[in-house]
Amino acid sequence: MRIGFIGLGNMGGPMAANLAAAQHRVRGFDVARAALEGLAAKGGEAAPSIAAAVADAELVVTMLPAGPHVREVYAGEGGVLAAAAKGALLVDSSTIDVETARWAAAEAAKRGFDMLDAPVSGGTAGAAAASLTFMVGGSEAGFARALPVLQAMGKTIVHAGPAGSGQAAKICNNMILGISMIGVSEGFALADRLGLDRQKLFEISSKSSGQSWSMTSYCPVPGLVPAAPSNRDYQPGFTADMMLKDLKLAQAAASGTGTATPLGAAAAAIYQMLANAGLGPKDFSVIFRYISQRGA
Ligand code: NAD
Repeated sequence: MRIGFIGLGNMGGPMAANLAAAQHRVRGFDVARAALEGLAAKGGEAAPSIAAAVADAELVVTMLPAGPHVREVYAGEGGVLAAAAKGALLVDSSTIDVETARWAAAEAAKRGFDMLDAPVSGGTAGAAAASLTFMVGGSEAGFARALPVLQAMGKTIVHAGPAGSGQAAKICNNMILGISMIGVSEGFALADRLGLDRQKLFEISSKSSGQSWSMTSYCPVPGLVPAAPSNRDYQPGFTADMMLKDLKLAQAAASGTGTATPLGAAAAAIYQMLANAGLGPKDFSVIFRYISQRGA
């Protein structure tokens, strides 16, 4: 397939490279020269502009930092909506607010394009290994068309519902994750103060009602789950800054829908304190070290 790819950063770079490796023709654009050159070195073609990247593409993927970038890349002068070929399927994989995702789908529809929101989880390792999870919002027909392309970048691809549903799934999931990571960290910090052996709490809780992914797959306490970032001085992984971004998106959605999410609000405030303490670039599981030290 002829694919246009806008946003070739930490995630988009390896995702576009995987599309090229799967024999798609990938024409990419990024405002950062180094990112563009990276694509050319990995089997894709570097385009001089958004318009050049998407002009004859059958499918366009965008992987941008946040909602304002998506608005600019889609609706700006020479942007995707102005330049994409008739009938192209548009897929935005950035993590953004539900409102912007729905706005982009509606603007696309006005111009005759089908558009999907398809944010991912799995981080840069998942992007490199083509094992991302895609949460997709949009039409059934668009999902069916995009599926083979998404399968070249990911392993688990779920159609979550109409436009915006992919972003909704992503922020709900990550709000649960942020809260549970803090919960596990508080539990282990308290165990330390009570003189309870960490290994013993892990042995018990990982097999009982305190069990969660945050504990058994990604334990924030070093020495208990070998693959977890806590064993590598909290090298990401998934940064605390990214978690804060997603928790803020969840809070915006909660306020927009009148949903009471007091623990989500507390989690956002706690990750804001972590970022203010200079720990934003660390893996988000560094919250354990932060909580342990604060109580010392
Ligand atoms: P990144 O900052 O590394 O990449 C974004 C790229 O977009 C950059 O290369 C930037 O130059 C480019 N860009 C910005 N504005 C542009 C424009 N107007 N035109 C063309 N290119 C433009 O970010 P990332 O880590 O690749 O994340 C991308 C998205 O994926 C974010 O929404 C993030 O929340 C989400 N995400 C990231 C991870 C992760 O672990 N990094 C995991 C899941 C989801």
